[in-house]
Amino acid sequence: MTPDDERFLLRAIELANEARAGGNPPFGSLLVGPDGDVLAEDRNTSVTESDITAHPELKLARWAGRELDPATAAGTTMYTSCQPCGMCMGAIERSFLGRVVYALSTEQLTALKPPAAAPGVRLEGPASPEQGRVPVEGYYTSASQP
Ligand SMILES: [Zn+2]
Repeated sequence: MTPDDERFLLRAIELANEARAGGNPPFGSLLVGPDGDVLAEDRNTSVTESDITAHPELKLARWAGRELDPATAAGTTMYTSCQPCGMCMGAIERSFLGRVVYALSTEQLTALKPPAAAPGVRLEGPASPEQGRVPVEGYYTSASQP
């Protein structure tokens, strides 16, 4: 942790406070380029936008996927008030961000929340691999694939 890391983490926490003050869950994040410039920042807006996916980490990963080439993305650091959830980590990996620094771990966050009421999802498969592979076959080896 450098003094810059601490400064950017404090900004992420400030964004989390802003999210909470605006009626949303208390999470905030920013994306910093290799030169220490703040490229983008965001807050959780899942309540005010009625969007369960409106986590700041996901919004920044989507922004990076649109605006940055993979080499540039690899030089960025995301600073975030809490450890990214599974959904956001998937997007962060797909947007090729280089580093994530968080203030509070998932375990520490969980200790501050009531137990989750979610019953869990039953995941079943592979249920039809022969038909399921047809649209995928050749896609990743064709020249037209982005
Ligand atoms: Zn998330």
